Amino acid sequence: MAEVFDVIVLGIGGFGSGAAYHLARRGLRVLGLDRFRPAHDQGSSHGETRIIRKAYFEHPDYVPLLLKAYDLWADLEAESQQQLFWKCGLLLAGLPDSEAISGARLSAKQHGLTIENLTASAATDRWPGFKVPNSFDAVFEADAGLLKVEDCVRTHLDLATTHGAMLLFGDPVVSWSSTGREVRVCTATREFIAASLVITAGSWAGSVLAGLGLPLQVLRKPMFWFETRSPAYNLAASMPTFYFEMPAEAASTFYGFPSLDGQVLKVAQHSGGELVADPLLVDRQLRESDVQPIADFLRTCLPAVRTQPVRHSTCLYTVTPDRHFVVDRHPEFSNVVIGCGFSGHGFKFTSVLGSVFADLATTGSTELSLDFLNLARLADQTSMADRRYSCSSGFGMTAIGSQESARQGTAPTLETSQCFDAD
Ligand SMILES: Cc1cc2nc3c(=O)[nH]c(=O)nc-3n(C[C@H](O)[C@H](O)[C@H](O)COP(=O)(O)OP(=O)(O)OC[C@H]3O[C@@H](n4cnc5c(N)ncnc54)[C@H](O)[C@@H]3O)c2cc1C
Repeated sequence: MAEVFDVIVLGIGGFGSGAAYHLARRGLRVLGLDRFRPAHDQGSSHGETRIIRKAYFEHPDYVPLLLKAYDLWADLEAESQQQLFWKCGLLLAGLPDSEAISGARLSAKQHGLTIENLTASAATDRWPGFKVPNSFDAVFEADAGLLKVEDCVRTHLDLATTHGAMLLFGDPVVSWSSTGREVRVCTATREFIAASLVITAGSWAGSVLAGLGLPLQVLRKPMFWFETRSPAYNLAASMPTFYFEMPAEAASTFYGFPSLDGQVLKVAQHSGGELVADPLLVDRQLRESDVQPIADFLRTCLPAVRTQPVRHSTCLYTVTPDRHFVVDRHPEFSNVVIGCGFSGHGFKFTSVLGSVFADLATTGSTELSLDFLNLARLADQTSMADRRYSCSSGFGMTAIGSQESARQGTAPTLETSQCFDAD
């Protein structure tokens, strides 16, 4: 017999753990389901650290969300009595018209955020571990810093459980269906019913939401830890997180973190990435071709860091064509909420969007302005609009009562049965 909940969260990694926590905290009967163990290393939310910042170069519209995200991270630290955020700042470096520099300045100006503008030599003098190229400008944001990524996921999950959520791991969801009023979710062995469903399936969103034909691409993104040869790179020596946008001929962006242990620091390339056909089969081996551009960057900009990695880990970006997130309700089923396409910059938002997913799943709306993240903007890149209110056996969608609705001039009730390959 199916077990009954108020809300089911499909995928309790970065965003799903936030959603489960906020839903459970509001007193709802919550079920969270994941194919892997808590805070695992097979998706997009692992590798020790994530940068968090306010002067958002990607788009000023993210800033109100970020202000709320900061508040919610502080609340989570207070409730869990655990430090999750280190306010060590962020150094952005690039040509004056680079996206990072000009975008951060724009967001700071529009939202009255505090940033410091520095010349390349002033930045190098202040943080002697860096060698900022002379043609670059630098922007320092003192409010930025790092989040301990696995600790954040674990804390959201642990507190979701404390607030009464049931969380099940190691059992992939194989199908879901909705009548618009009720959802039914199945794993290989169990069946669950709820009033609403939140789908936060990360790199599996494309297959879990196959009926929508979302234009998502999964990219292989390795990260590396390198030995430092100077205490200047240590968190304790006020070394900030960093993001360098190298000029056109290198066409690459690199980011990294201060050394947490005084021995190694983490660096990775934000640009590029190999397309992944199946997230379960991504190549996690160390490749010399991944290391080489980062080693070149280190030689140029962090010269006292060794260029042979001592450790690596492979992560996944799930990117939309415009690199902005998808946060919306399902176009056919208002009781199904979708969060996906976080495009390699989502983690810092898992606190605030966890709360937004809880709003959308329970009231259908949220006070925060999210229009710029809606699904409709991607419609010309999907065949989504064509499939609205129509039968499509290829995607397992069934319109129920559509002829009756057409006669009555009302919107049809739709039921979808989305079966996908979970292996
Ligand atoms: C290398 C790297 C560096 C990054 N750096 C930053 C940064 O500095 N700052 C920042 O803000 N963001 C950063 N990001 C982006 C951020 O980490 C991601 O946007 C975010 O973690 C995505 O979370 P998610 O919940 O979408 O995915 P995940 O955390 O992967 O969660 C999805 C979950 O769904 C589960 N799932 C999928 N299908 C099923 C199924 N059928 N049944 C059951 N469970 C299922 C998966 O097992 C998984 O646990 C980075 C990402 C990477 C890869």
